[in-house]
Amino acid sequence: MTKQEYMEKTDQELVHVYNRFPVVLDHGEGVFLYDTDGKKYLDFAAGIAVNALGYSNDEYKNALKEQVDKVLHVSNLYYCEPIAEAAKKALKASRMDRIFFTNSGTEAIEGAIKAAKKYAYTRDGHAGHEIIAMQHSFHGRSLGALSVTGNAHYQEPFEPLLPGVKFAEFNNLESVEKLVTDKTCAILMETVQGEGGIYPAEPAFLEGVRKLCDQKDILLILDEIQCGMGRTGEMFAWQHYGVKPDIMTSAKALGGGVPVGAFFLTQKVADKSLAPGDHGTTYGGNPFVGAAVSAVFDQFEKQKVVDNVKNVAPYLEQKLDELVSKYDFLETRRGMGLMQGIVCKLPVGKVVTKALENGLLVITAGADVLRMVPPLIIEKKHVDEMISILEPALLAVAEEN
Ligand SMILES: *Cc1c(COP(=O)(O)O)cnc(C)c1O
Repeated sequence: MTKQEYMEKTDQELVHVYNRFPVVLDHGEGVFLYDTDGKKYLDFAAGIAVNALGYSNDEYKNALKEQVDKVLHVSNLYYCEPIAEAAKKALKASRMDRIFFTNSGTEAIEGAIKAAKKYAYTRDGHAGHEIIAMQHSFHGRSLGALSVTGNAHYQEPFEPLLPGVKFAEFNNLESVEKLVTDKTCAILMETVQGEGGIYPAEPAFLEGVRKLCDQKDILLILDEIQCGMGRTGEMFAWQHYGVKPDIMTSAKALGGGVPVGAFFLTQKVADKSLAPGDHGTTYGGNPFVGAAVSAVFDQFEKQKVVDNVKNVAPYLEQKLDELVSKYDFLETRRGMGLMQGIVCKLPVGKVVTKALENGLLVITAGADVLRMVPPLIIEKKHVDEMISILEPALLAVAEEN
C-alpha cells in the first residue's frame, strides 16, 4: 500500500474520533521518529507524554523480550514475580503504600473514584458522597472519568453522567471551599493540568486544599497521569510541593509505551477502602506490563532521567522565553520541567502542521496552547534543534494569517 492508501484505509475503517496528521510513522530511535518514507522527526510529543525513555532503548526492549518468552498473562488469581517487582519500584518512587495496576489512565481514575467512595462509605456507613473536581481538567474518556472532566463539550452528548460531581476553579481555594459539604468524599485535580492548557497548581492552592482535606477527612486525589513519572523534574509533580495525596493516579509514561496505568493509595485509605470483590481487572498488572513498568523504573535510575529533566528543563524554558519575548503572536509560556506550553495567538493547529512538515512533532493543549512533552532523555542540542524548526514554522503561519 502507498502512504496515501494507508491514510485513506485508516480513515475509512477506524471510528472517526481523531483527525490525524498526514504522516505514517514507522519506527523510532532515541528522540527521533521516522515515517514510511524515511523522513526524520524530532519528537517533542512523545506519544502524548508516554515515551519518556524515547525510542528503542535496548535494555527496556530486552526486558520485554525476555518476558514475552516466559509468559504474557496469567490472571490476577495467581501470584507472579514481575508485578511484585513493578509494585515495589512504583511504591518506592511514589512514597505511597498500595498500588492497583490498570490498563489505562482513565481506568486509574475510575479506580481512584471507587476507592474514595468506598472509603467514605466504610467511614459513614452509607453511600451518596460527592466529589469536587476542577474546571478545564482532563481525566479520561470512560464515563466515570468523563464525569470528573471539567469540559462541557466532552460531557454533553453522554449525559447523564455520575451524579454528585461539582467543579471548582483550579488555583482558586475559595471556589473549592464553597463547594465542600458534609457529603464531599474527595477533591480531585491534576497537579499540573495538561489537556486544559498546561497550568501548574499554585503552591498556596495545593497546600490550602490539603489542609481543607485534613480538616474534613476528605481525600485528596492527584492525577499524575501526564505530569508524573519525572516529567516535571520530580518523580511525581506533587513532590515539588509540601503535600502528599491520599490517592494518586499514574499512566502514560509508567510503562514506557506498554499500555498500563495505576492508582496508588496511602495505608490510611487502603485500610477502609477497596476489599476483595470491590474491584478487579482481567489484564491489569499482568506479567508483561509488570516487566515493562519494572524496566522503566530501572532505566530511570540507571540513566538518571529525573536529573536530566532538572538539567535540560531550565534551558528549554530559557529558549522558549526568548521566543515569547521576540514575537507578539506568542503570549506567554507556562509549565514545569519538560511539560511546557506556549500560549499562541496564531492558530495552533496550523503551527503543529507546519512544524510536522519541517520535521518536528509538537502537540496542542486547549484551544490556543502549543504543548511540548518530549522524551525525558532529550539533551540541550535537541532543544536548539527544536527551536530551529519551530521558529520558522511560527513565522510561516504568522505570514499566512
Ligand atoms: C491522558 C490523561 C488521562 C487519560 O489517560 P488514558 O490512558 O488516555 O485513558 C487522564 N488524566 C490525565 C491528566 C491525562 O493526561
